Amino acid sequence: MRTFYKRQICLWDSILRLVFPEICLICGVPIQTKEIVGLCETCRSRIKRWEGRGCTRCGKPLISEDGICSVCREKEYLFDSGYSLFDYRSEGRELIYQYKFKNRRILSKYFAYQIVQYMLDRGEILPVIPVPPRRKSIKRRGWDPVNRILRDLERNYSIKGLRPLKRLDSRAQKELNREKREQNLKNRIVFLNKINFDFSGGIYLLDDVWTTGATVNECSRILKQNGFQSIHVITICRD
Ligand SMILES: [Zn+2]
Ligand SMILES: [Zn+2]
Repeated sequence: MRTFYKRQICLWDSILRLVFPEICLICGVPIQTKEIVGLCETCRSRIKRWEGRGCTRCGKPLISEDGICSVCREKEYLFDSGYSLFDYRSEGRELIYQYKFKNRRILSKYFAYQIVQYMLDRGEILPVIPVPPRRKSIKRRGWDPVNRILRDLERNYSIKGLRPLKRLDSRAQKELNREKREQNLKNRIVFLNKINFDFSGGIYLLDDVWTTGATVNECSRILKQNGFQSIHVITICRD
């Protein structure tokens, strides 16, 4: 029954797509706005990025704790601060799933828009460095979800993108626990070249999903070794 229902939805989805160029990825209504970002206007105004309290170290949205989260009480990250646009309980989780695993690439524009709104609220427009992808996942997916968001930031908002990091082959992080993730990443992220750009004011380090923070932490270690002083991590969603 469930499969039948799912099939019906897929069929309806396909018919709608033939008639309308885009339908809203959350509620399914046809999108009529000029600027298509994968969401209808109603959902765009309804879905809010996280603006509540967050851990002062890593940015994790906090409900009951105050100040720093339970992870940061035991571990010191190498970046200076962090923020995730969406909490894992929010619809942002569905959006990142649609984006990464259903290939709804159009959402990169929406994420770029939300990142710029956040930067403006924070009062700092800074250069952005993407977390480098695993070569195997690029091969499998055919595109790089993080770099696509950065490309929209560059093209549509004139944000400076820097790409000094490269990831050497390693096992997929999602199979591993926190400790193993850290070992798996050791020496697998390398600094490619010196940058002829004044980054003394700080940079944003961009990733799509925050799981344990191991990847952004390793990138921060390499960046700090190479002279970067102030690193603020932005991720789209917390897992
Ligand atoms: Zn909608
Ligand atoms: Zn924290």
